[in-house]
Amino acid sequence: MKICPMPKNILTKELEQQNQSIDNTLCEHFPITRKELKKLIKGTHLRTWEAILAEHGYGEGCDHCHKVVTLVLQRLRNPSPKTASIKDPIEAFIARSNKWGRYMITPRLPGGEITAEQLRVLGEVSTEFKLTPKINLGQHIDLFGAKLEDLPQIWKTLIAVGFESGHTNGRSLGMVQTCLGEKWCGHALKDSTGLAIRLEHRYKGLLAPAKLKGAVSGCTTECAGALHKDFGVVATEKGWNLFIGGKGGIKPHPGVLLVRNVQEEVLIHSLDRFLLLYMHDAKKGMKPYAWLKQFDGGIRALQDLIQQKHSNVPATVEAKMKQYIDSTSCDWQKILEDPQHLSYFQPQIIDSKVTSAFE
Ligand code: SF4
Repeated sequence: MKICPMPKNILTKELEQQNQSIDNTLCEHFPITRKELKKLIKGTHLRTWEAILAEHGYGEGCDHCHKVVTLVLQRLRNPSPKTASIKDPIEAFIARSNKWGRYMITPRLPGGEITAEQLRVLGEVSTEFKLTPKINLGQHIDLFGAKLEDLPQIWKTLIAVGFESGHTNGRSLGMVQTCLGEKWCGHALKDSTGLAIRLEHRYKGLLAPAKLKGAVSGCTTECAGALHKDFGVVATEKGWNLFIGGKGGIKPHPGVLLVRNVQEEVLIHSLDRFLLLYMHDAKKGMKPYAWLKQFDGGIRALQDLIQQKHSNVPATVEAKMKQYIDSTSCDWQKILEDPQHLSYFQPQIIDSKVTSAFE
């Protein structure tokens, strides 16, 4: 049984006080921890699921251990993800698996904008492959319940009408939310939807220390919730305000103002610098809120660094950001073009206890 991180910590502490512990083993087929399994695979020459299961596992395996072994093998094949625009495409895809050995399909929808034809195709694909569509809070439409072997055909159909794969899981930019914007809202001071789309395309390939969310609001009514995102932009009479380090969750915290009343190009330049400093400096799993709290000199020092015109940061920072932007491409386009990647999409091991959830 999976336990959420916070209750798990509380439970672990309680059990420790009673000299007991939580069972952290992977599953009945691999009665060792995830860390131990990784170490075991790295230390052997075994490089297929079948061989690893036969040598170190019990029974036929389940969806959970199959996924962990596949991820470890994929990481061994592609050991330097920081050199790529984003994760290995197969690794990124595996991260989107759901319960019951089925998969989630989340096309990227910058600005929440979708054409009538795309909407029709999503409906047709859902009907044909028996998927469950769900609109989520991040202005995406998720399709749940896809079989592994159906994924290439589904994505081929979606890419043909202009969709690309999103990155709703993992250490990357999930989305840049936006409000109605100047096209549809009489209060809008600027084109918030256009800016959100530009930012999402610009940063969609980043491999960040943690999952990132951004938002852009067209006025201070702040319908997009920009102040509680990792980075948020709000239009003003004079330009754009950029906030960083906001967060939601159980202890929400508004972001702090990094730059005020700037024009679009200055805003993007400032955001580039902030993101690259954060990506360079933050530990794995650390969100901007936590990074900012421990940043030497706090927000004032960061503002100075971002606004410095004559430091040695600009050339290197801009080159690095350009490298990320230029090397970004659709994970699923890469998978469809590579026969080796496509060979992964064979019928998957399904937990034998789960047979009727989708039939
Ligand atoms: S934030 Fe302002 S511009 Fe955007 S939808 Fe709300 S009221 Fe309209």
